[in-house]
This record gives sequence, structure tokens and C-alpha cells, in this order.
Amino acid sequence: KLDFAGRLAKRLGAGVREETVHAVDNVDLTIRKGEVVGLVGESGCGKSTLGRMVAGILPPSDGSILRDGTELLDRDSAAARELKLRTQMIFQDPYASLNPRMRVVDIVGEAPLVHGITSRSGFDAYVDEQMRRAGLDPAFKRRYPHQFSGGQRQRIGIARALAVKPDFIVCDEAVAALDVSIQAQILNLFIRLRSELDLTYLFISHDLGVVEHISDRVVIMYLGRVVEEASSETVFASPNHPYTQSLLASVPRIESRKRAFSVVKGEIPSPLNPPPGCHFHPRCPHAMERCKVEKPELKTVAPGQRSACHLNDMA
Ligand code: SF4
Ligand code: MG
Repeated sequence: KLDFAGRLAKRLGAGVREETVHAVDNVDLTIRKGEVVGLVGESGCGKSTLGRMVAGILPPSDGSILRDGTELLDRDSAAARELKLRTQMIFQDPYASLNPRMRVVDIVGEAPLVHGITSRSGFDAYVDEQMRRAGLDPAFKRRYPHQFSGGQRQRIGIARALAVKPDFIVCDEAVAALDVSIQAQILNLFIRLRSELDLTYLFISHDLGVVEHISDRVVIMYLGRVVEEASSETVFASPNHPYTQSLLASVPRIESRKRAFSVVKGEIPSPLNPPPGCHFHPRCPHAMERCKVEKPELKTVAPGQRSACHLNDMA
């Protein structure tokens, strides 16, 4: 079980002035073991920032990250270091995260060797096993990343992550750079690995269609805040928040889509200066006077469904 509660205030240079931005604003998130949680929002909503905080890579400016009750932010604790190793991230661009001068065998095998997960004598067999698991032929392990296709490179990233025996994986737009047919293959690989290895995922994407395919539960973010949270079924069948509704209206079905660019009406406001009250009010078709001044709290609106919208007080 992972419990995250916190916020990150970022200092961003904006022209001559420097301003504090709440990239993640009082978010709390609980992920149960074995669950796949989809984290969705347009670019700049803070979902990558939240993902990096949950993985323990980026400390929040205040808050806590608990894994099975252990505080991940505790630098001196061996338990926290071990939990961080068991948390791996997979990114959008595998090429940028793979050292071009290293052979696949070393990319995959380096960390488990350093951490004593495999020994020198068992090294080759161990690397082969990780490559096979990720759908790669170990016969190619002496090759370099540029000798592989985009989909295969993502598989190298996955093999490298699996090699340290993680139980929690944060995928940040892990299929966004891939062709649709390859996307489906990689998503199916994630689904298979989840049951084979008892993995838990936080699956970050701007693309609701991708998230629907893999998630048990979906969390929707808008400008640093969680606006809705529910089971995947509920989000797609009866979304509560007007932002979720407009995101859904813009999602072509997965079979027919080309690239799912968000077409929610209106510009995304700058996170440097988010609108007061409900951040979504300038784009919301239902906005009322109250929405411009008062921040809506995340409240339970149905069993297992939370939403932050003033409309729920009017029913
Ligand atoms: Fe729209 Fe108001 Fe609800 Fe925000 S609180 S989503 S502006 S109706
Ligand atoms: Mg991002």
C-alpha cells in the first residue's frame, strides 16, 4: 500500500520575476498492492511531477510518502532505500534514458550486479531471463540501443526496470512515443507482467484511451489538483467532473484513433498563474459565480468515486 500526501512548490523563472508554483497542490493518493492506477491530465497538470514524487525521485516541499507504513523520504533509513529500489520508473523516451555507449547486457545487468541481486557467475543467465520476460531475444544482448526499434528500446527499458525486482512501477507516458500497434503490444506486456510478477503500477498518461485499457482505478488531475478519482469503469460510464466529461468526449475509441490529442475547449491556463476558485472555471461549460472564488473540495459523490465540483452541492 502506498500513501502519498503532499505538495510541491516549484520556483519557476517567468521573465524577470520568479514565482512559486504549486505544481502539485495538496494531493493525496493511495495505491493498493496489485492495483493499476491511471493518472490522467493534459500536459503541465503536474502528473509527471506527482509520479516522480511517488517514486521517491523528487521530494515534495511538504508531505509524506508512505510505503507499507515506511516513510520513503527518510534519507537515513535502510528500509526507505530498499523501498526506493523496489520502485522503478519507465519513461516516454526510452532512447533518452538508455546510455547509447552501453550494450544491452550491461544496461540490463548493471544495477542488479551493483545491488547484489545477481552474482558474476549467474550474470548472463540473469540478464537473459530479464530480456526474455520483456519480449527481447537474448541473442541480441551485445548490441547497442540504436540497433533496436522504438518498441524494442522500450522493452530494454522494461527489462532494465524488472532486473532490480521492483514491486511498484511508475510508467510516465510509457507508450506515448510509439505507433498505435506497438502501443497495444507494450500495454499487453505490462498487463502480463503485472500478473506474472505481482506488480503494482501508477500509469501516467495524457491519453484516457490508453489508461482505460490498463487501469483498475483512474485519477484525473487538472493544474496540480486531483479533480476526480474513481474505478476505471465508473470514470468511463459515469464521469462526475465536467473536466473528466470533456476529456472523455475528446477520446476517440482506441481501435480507431490516430493520435489522441486533447481537444478540451479553451487554452490550458498557465500553471504560473492558475485561475482562482475552481482552476477549471474559465473552460467549464457549467461555471457559476461561486466557481470563480471558491475552491471545490474533493468529496465522495458515489461509492468509490470522488470529485471536486460545486455542482455536487446543488443536487
Ligand atoms: Fe465547473 Fe464550477 Fe464544477 Fe469547476 S466547480 S468544474 S467551474 S461547475
Ligand atoms: Mg509529463
